Amino acid sequence: MAKLKLEYIWLDGYEPVANLRGKTKIADGDPSTFSLEDCDLWGFDGSSTMQAEGGSSDCFLKPVACYPDSTRRNGFLVMCEVLNPDLTPHPSNGRATILDDEGAWFGFEQEYFLFQDGRPLGWPDSGYPNPQGEYYTGVGYKAVGDLARTIVEEHLDICIDAGINHEGINAEVAKGQWEFQIFGKGSKNCADQMHVARYILQRCCEKYGVDVEYHCKPFTGDWNGSGMHCNFSTEYMRTVGGKEYFEALMAAFEKNREEHIAVYGPDNDMRLTGLHETQSIDQFSYGVADRGASIRVPHSFVNNGYKGYLEDRRPNSQGDPYKIAARVLQTIDEVPKA
Ligand code: ADP
Ligand code: MN
Ligand code: MN
Ligand code: MN
Repeated sequence: MAKLKLEYIWLDGYEPVANLRGKTKIADGDPSTFSLEDCDLWGFDGSSTMQAEGGSSDCFLKPVACYPDSTRRNGFLVMCEVLNPDLTPHPSNGRATILDDEGAWFGFEQEYFLFQDGRPLGWPDSGYPNPQGEYYTGVGYKAVGDLARTIVEEHLDICIDAGINHEGINAEVAKGQWEFQIFGKGSKNCADQMHVARYILQRCCEKYGVDVEYHCKPFTGDWNGSGMHCNFSTEYMRTVGGKEYFEALMAAFEKNREEHIAVYGPDNDMRLTGLHETQSIDQFSYGVADRGASIRVPHSFVNNGYKGYLEDRRPNSQGDPYKIAARVLQTIDEVPKA
């Protein structure tokens, strides 16, 4: 038996962007066998997180995923859903709105800026760095500065230790902008991992006096915004698919354009302008290998007889992957299968 440090993590009730919250529960257990099943229901003061009134402040935390935390002795990161006192899902609980589907696979690409003293890392104190061009996948102090890579590498290692399924990382188009990609099987799994990866990133930045800026367009002008492309597939899309089904799917995405945009992150009109590898917010389009489309169809999809995954490029970096996954699966669910 050891004293385990369980970091219970949840999304608060702030609008339009929920914050990650966490508090530590000490429990007795064997760290070598400890798992989600060993995590008890817990609670918190919802009146301090915009999730309850002071007079009836209790909210419950229902553990839904558990990851080892290599930064703490006997530590675990426990992602939670927020429940009302009667154990029904709290209105802020986007995860509870995702259709259960083990055959649904998601890959999210999180873009973000690292900020210090109100400026992206590596930017001069006033004015702007050199125009975009050399930074994307760049190497060298001029391209990426010094501190950023330290943080990015540390974040990656902690995530890999946690069993989070990173698929890659890269420096992005704007200076101080980075990306990581996570892939997961199951309708809720990738979004769980994404929230925990965000939590780890923010925590890892604390000691450097750095913050993560998730806003989708921190700078107007000729600076890329930040997205969170949502790559998705269902078992039917991967194994049956076909051109007719694909076209019906795209028609449903077009019909539900506004419903999708509503959960794809705030201020997206600043980012989805038709420039900087985006389609404008009031248009819907798809195209093979088209990074200026709302939905990019990979070459492999067409070559395999319209089977495989698609990339919705519209979700932004502040979007809640729970709400994004829920909306994507809801639209797919509206389309009849052959
Ligand atoms: P790009 O930047 O060119 O859009 P990335 O390599 O950054 O491409 O991201 C592609 C994403 O697609 C990865 O996150 C990957 O996990 C995801 N992906 C690959 N195959 C599938 C699939 N069958 N279903 C869902 N997502 C997938
Ligand atoms: Mn990418
Ligand atoms: Mn990118
Ligand atoms: Mn992409």
